[in-house]
Amino acid sequence: MTKYTNLNHPFYIGGEWTTFANTSRVPIFNPSLGEIIGELPLGTADEVDVAVRAAHAAFPTWADTPVVERARVMFKYRTLIEQHFEEIVRLISREHGKTYAEARGDLFRGYEVVEFACAAPTLLTGELLPNIARGIDGELARHPLGVCVGITPFNFPAMIPLWMFPLALVCGNTFILKPSERVPLTAIRLTELLAEAGLPKGVFNLVHGGKESVDALLRHPLVKAVSFVGSTPIARYVYTTGTAQGKRVQANGGARNYVVVMPDADPGKTVEGVMNAAFGCAGERCMAGSSMITVGDRGKKVIPELVKAAQSLTVGRTDVETQPGMGAVISAAHRDRVRRLVDDGEAAGARVIADGRNVVVKDAPNGFYLGATIVEDVRADMKLAQEEVFGPVLNVLHMADLEQAISLANQSSYGNGAAIFTRSGSAAREFKQRVKAGMIGINVGVPAPMSMFPFSGWNESFFGDLHMQGRAGVMFYTQPKVTTTRWFAEGEGDIWRK
Ligand code: NAD
Repeated sequence: MTKYTNLNHPFYIGGEWTTFANTSRVPIFNPSLGEIIGELPLGTADEVDVAVRAAHAAFPTWADTPVVERARVMFKYRTLIEQHFEEIVRLISREHGKTYAEARGDLFRGYEVVEFACAAPTLLTGELLPNIARGIDGELARHPLGVCVGITPFNFPAMIPLWMFPLALVCGNTFILKPSERVPLTAIRLTELLAEAGLPKGVFNLVHGGKESVDALLRHPLVKAVSFVGSTPIARYVYTTGTAQGKRVQANGGARNYVVVMPDADPGKTVEGVMNAAFGCAGERCMAGSSMITVGDRGKKVIPELVKAAQSLTVGRTDVETQPGMGAVISAAHRDRVRRLVDDGEAAGARVIADGRNVVVKDAPNGFYLGATIVEDVRADMKLAQEEVFGPVLNVLHMADLEQAISLANQSSYGNGAAIFTRSGSAAREFKQRVKAGMIGINVGVPAPMSMFPFSGWNESFFGDLHMQGRAGVMFYTQPKVTTTRWFAEGEGDIWRK
C-alpha cells in the first residue's frame, strides 16, 4: 500500500517527506484520459540547497559504512521492488501512458541494475601488485566521490533513475534525484521503498523541479557528479555547465536509430522486430527504430506486411485491465508536434502509407493518442528526417546495397543504436564493424544493453567519458586511490646503531 497519498509533501530530504511554501506547481496528467491527476510543486535553488546540504552531511558516515552493509540495503530494496512490482507497473502506466507490458519492461530493466548493484563487494574489489620495485607494493582502491545527482527524462520513469542511484549508493556516495516533472509519482514510490529498505537519513534525497533546480544542482559547489538523461540540447547544456563547474558529468542525449532490412532477412521475425522497435512505448524510446532502410527489391517485401501490422495495432487506454497494443503519448502538445511533423512532411511530398494521425479511442476521447504511422519518400531536407520524432512514426527508406545503407546511417549526428535483420553473418559483421553507433542489434530491433553492460551512446547521443550501467557505472561513481607501500625490516634504517 502506498504510504504516499497526495502531492503535498513530495520532496524527500534528510529522511523526511516535506514541501516548501511559495513553490510554483505543474499539473501531472494521466495521458490515457488526458486528465490531470495531481499537481507537483517545483523546487527552487533554495530547496536544492537544503537537499545538497543533507546529502553532504550524510556522506562521511555512509562512505565509511562497510560495503557489505551498503549492498545489504540493495538486497532488501530488490525484495521490496519484487513485492510491489505490479503496483509500481500500474503507477508507471498511469502517469506515462505506456502499456502494462511496457511498464513491466521499464521496471524490470531497472530492477536488474539493483541486482547488479548487490554485487558491490566484488565490483569494488581493488587491485594489488606486490613487489612493483624491490620491497615495494602497489595497491589501488576505489573511493566514493561525495554528493551525486541524477536528472531524468519522462520516458522511463523507473528504469532511468534506477540506472543511476543503486550503483552510486553502493559505491558509497550520497544522492539527489531530480526526476522528470511529468512523471514524479514513480520516483516518489521508488524513494519510499528505498527508505523502507533501511537507507540512513540524508543518503538519498528526492527533489522536484525544472530548469531552476537543474541549474542549482549543476552549480552547487558541494555536488561532485551529475548523471543526466534527456534530449540532446539539454544533455549538451548539462555537460558543458557541469564540467565548467569542475564536476564529473555523464549526459545521455536523444537519438535517431536505423534498422536495416537485408534481402535475406526472415520476413516474419523482421516485421515483429521492426514493429516493436518503431511502435513500442509509442515510439517514445531513445532506442526506437525510427527509420527502416530496406536493401534491394527483396528487402522491400516486408513493407506490405508491416503496413498491415501497423494498421491492426490497437491503440487505447492503458489504465484498464484490457490492454491495447499501444498507449498514449505523454502530452497533448507532444501529440500535436508529432502530427505536425507528419503533416508537413506529407505537404512536402512524403507518402503516408499507414496513417495513425486521426486515431479515435472511443472510451477516452481526451487522451493523447496517435496510431502507428509509416511514411515513405521522406527527403533529407524535411524535419521528419532531421528531428528526433519520439512518437509512433516509422520512416521507410530504400537503398540498393548494404554499403549505401551504412553510409546513410552514418550521416546521422546521433549514435545511440542501429540494428540489422539478416541471415548473412558477413553482412552482420560488416554492419557491426562500420556503423557509428554504440549499441548494435543483429536480428534484435531494440538492442538496449542489460545492466552488466554500459548504455553506450556515441556522438550527440552521449556527452562524457564513462557511460551508465555496468563496470563503467562503477568507474563513474568512484575515484581511484593508489597507495605505494614500503616497509622496513627492524633496524634496517637505524644509522645510529652502526
Ligand atoms: P528533456 O531533455 O526535456 O528533460 C530531461 C530532464 O531535463 C528533465 O528532468 C527536465 O526537467 C530537465 N530539463 C528540461 N529542460 C531543461 C532546461 N532547459 N534546463 C535544465 N534542465 C531541463 O527530455 P524528455 O522530454 O523528458 O525526454 C525525452 C528525451 O530523452 C528524448 O530526446 C530521448 O531520446 C532522451 N532519452 C535519452 C536516453 C538515452 O539513454 N540516450 C534515454 C531516454 C530518453
